[in-house]
Amino acid sequence: MSGRHGLVAELTFATLWILVDETGGRITEGYDPSAANGRALMFGAYGPFVSTALPIRERSGRRGGPSADASVPSTLLEGYVKYYDPSLSAYTGVTGRISGTCYGRSEYAIDYDLFTNVIVYVMESGYFQAECPDGYEYFSGVHYLTGTYSDAYGKNGAQAGTTVSGYLGGSAALAYVTNDAAASAFNKAEHYAPIANSRFGQSRSSKITYWVSNDVADSTSYYWRFCYGGSCGDGMIYGNPQGAFGELGYFTVIHEYGHAFHRGALGATYSSAACGSEHYIDDESTLQCAYREGFADFFAVWIAGDQLTGTPTGIITDYRIEGNVYLLTGQNGSITEGAVAAFLYDLVDTSSDPNSANNQSGSTDDSIGYPGSYISDVIMNCSLAKSGGGTVTILDGIDQFVYCAERSLDDQSLVNSATGNPYFAERTQAYTSVSGPSNTPSGWSVSNIRAAWKYDLFKHGSLP
Ligand SMILES: [Zn+2]
Repeated sequence: MSGRHGLVAELTFATLWILVDETGGRITEGYDPSAANGRALMFGAYGPFVSTALPIRERSGRRGGPSADASVPSTLLEGYVKYYDPSLSAYTGVTGRISGTCYGRSEYAIDYDLFTNVIVYVMESGYFQAECPDGYEYFSGVHYLTGTYSDAYGKNGAQAGTTVSGYLGGSAALAYVTNDAAASAFNKAEHYAPIANSRFGQSRSSKITYWVSNDVADSTSYYWRFCYGGSCGDGMIYGNPQGAFGELGYFTVIHEYGHAFHRGALGATYSSAACGSEHYIDDESTLQCAYREGFADFFAVWIAGDQLTGTPTGIITDYRIEGNVYLLTGQNGSITEGAVAAFLYDLVDTSSDPNSANNQSGSTDDSIGYPGSYISDVIMNCSLAKSGGGTVTILDGIDQFVYCAERSLDDQSLVNSATGNPYFAERTQAYTSVSGPSNTPSGWSVSNIRAAWKYDLFKHGSLP
């Protein structure tokens, strides 16, 4: 550190300084930083000396009292917070916040006797600058995976960040988090949440919390909306290392965030019975399961598609959803989540979505390209009058979504020639009227929407 601590000698000896510069020499009790006139002060056995080699730092106002001391070479500690990403075989930065304390000492004090608390924002790259007031020389803090849209913890809520400390102006601090999987999930959630908000024109009113195990034996990821005493929370996401890193991590983290967005931003509700204990993207399930999981699949590939190329083989990507590869021959797409995702994707994607297999170029197989806000509008602002009484205001199947998007119940009686039954025969409840969203996007076309669902859910006809 600087020669600042040499001043402790003043406790017993009155040290006088002779400062010599171009304007001549003068005697001072300490030293006069104004003599530096914008240049840095260098300290040594006989310092300080005026130097032209280092810029002096801008000081933002002097503290009251005796502690402000120009011999503190910097008011910043800079550094990085990183996690290890096995998919990259490298350490990479993670965002978050550091709850820290600046330490300083007043004149004549031997130990730190000045403390002030600061919050430091860490960028997505992991870079941070901790700034302390004049006269403070040491910074120490705890890094939390706390962001604007989400917070992440280790398993069962354990602290997953790290500690950061160092002398201001010293070499950059480098800190590694304790839970790599939590850090990876957190960075992805923080990166893509604002993109989702922008595309759908809606946002959650509260942060979502991730609890991420760092145990590689854990393999399930899920969104869980817990209810207690009759009231339900806004949900949590549970994750694990297998669903945190690489392309599978991008898909999984944003899929789960898609559930939280569907519920927290668009007002969907989920029945725990809808999917049973497991669900697969290319399996037939129920209207309710295929709708909620299909929405999350669509959300993941549309929002995080720039990171999804299908490597390794088997990752669910925008390219594969666009190709509707998860609707197997003869299956009913209204109860198959991959097909529901394909239909929703076709409603919004345009040639500017880079959904080719190499993610380098755009492609689209249909002429529809409604804004994501239309999807939000259909989900949030539609009601269906039930035959026999009652009203549906929260959609739970792609059949209801179709009626709302078309603002028509004509499809209720549309017969699937392959079965001889109505396309949406899975629903036994009939509706007598639909009140769809009052706003429709430019180019809105009932016949185009109908052609898209018939093709994506039943492989009938062709895309518009
Ligand atoms: Zn899901």
